Amino acid sequence: MATVKLSDVRKSFGKNEVIHGIDLDIADGEFIVIVGPSGCGKSTLLRMVAGLETVSSGEIHIDGRRVNDLEPMERDIAMVFQNYALYPHMNVYDNMAYGLRITGKPKEEIRERVHQAAALLQIEDYLERKPRELSGGQRQRVAMGRAIVRKPAVFLFDEPLSNLDAKLRVQMRLEIKQLQKELGVTSLYVTHDQVEAMTLADRVIIMNEGRAEQVGTPLELYANPATRFVGGFIGSPP
Ligand code: ADP
Ligand code: MG
Repeated sequence: MATVKLSDVRKSFGKNEVIHGIDLDIADGEFIVIVGPSGCGKSTLLRMVAGLETVSSGEIHIDGRRVNDLEPMERDIAMVFQNYALYPHMNVYDNMAYGLRITGKPKEEIRERVHQAAALLQIEDYLERKPRELSGGQRQRVAMGRAIVRKPAVFLFDEPLSNLDAKLRVQMRLEIKQLQKELGVTSLYVTHDQVEAMTLADRVIIMNEGRAEQVGTPLELYANPATRFVGGFIGSPP
């Protein structure tokens, strides 16, 4: 487990600054949801924490260690994307084992971790199947399993449920909440869905045009929206 700290983090693409100085202190085991409209910079912010995008200025610390110049593999994070990004030619077991194999973990440990995660996600019966033989919800569980087996200090989620139909989305939301309770891993979760944000988060960051409009618990945001944008976005009374 780990803390995550962002200090005046900025990002420019060419001359266009899209993240305008984000400060954030995430406690060990906290589940933070970044929510905001499309294009406000959620993915860019998450990708900087992951190391998939460089930071233009500012500092990112994971568990007290400055990670600005570290590769994604060196950051002790695991990321779950909306498009699953599973390897189509590998079965579920190999998809989940892949990240452990390339770091040279012993075969027995890999086996144990994959079976443990598969049990937790209720995909033990599908370990021999290829991704194309799975439903959307099952694929999403595999994608999460692949993150869990690595036992990262931090989970990063980028709209992991947005490709699922409404009913499945609600079910998976509950499962993610349950997993979070069981694993207690520090998490940064991006969504444009305010209901998802309000139900999953310990604290929510409401983003708008590259800025954090407000950071607080769901109740704080609902009861005391700091700006008209926040009130409108989460639907609290004016
Ligand atoms: P969100 O995830 O909230 O929808 P993004 O982080 O994807 O938003 O994008 C934030 C802004 O940064 C958008 O204006 C987008 O066009 C811009 N942007 C994102 N990635 C790039 C890139 N690689 N090159 C140039 N502009 C980008
Ligand atoms: Mg995005």
